[in-house]
Amino acid sequence: MSQTIFSKIINKEIPVDIIYEDDLVLAFQDIAPQAPIHILVIPKKPITNLYSVKTEDQALLGHLLLTVKMVAEKVGLTNGYRVVINNGSDGGQTVEHLHLHILGGRSMQWPPG
Ligand code: AMP
Repeated sequence: MSQTIFSKIINKEIPVDIIYEDDLVLAFQDIAPQAPIHILVIPKKPITNLYSVKTEDQALLGHLLLTVKMVAEKVGLTNGYRVVINNGSDGGQTVEHLHLHILGGRSMQWPPG
């Protein structure tokens, strides 16, 4: 997998507002928020998207979701929020490093565009 902007964020070459970090994951503010609260949760392992996850990534994928839960609680999203993975071209993925969007602070619409 080639270097992406998220690799540079993980390596602290590009500054972001970090909400949570551990050995496996990083959560930070999205630079172009689509809701009052818009946070990205990414694995530090360079996984392109859901097409490239492997069985060995099972625990990491679970950790990403538990991080979403923890971060949402940390920022006070007690009235619901949306979790989005844009996967591949038709999914609207623009950065080729797996990431989960946490969107909250307003009522969400359905269906998405
Ligand atoms: P996606 O379109 O699902 O691939 O989402 C990529 C997200 O990364 C978008 O919401 C961008 O606003 C966000 N993004 C891109 N560059 C940065 C950056 N330097 N810091 C924070 N978020 C970024």
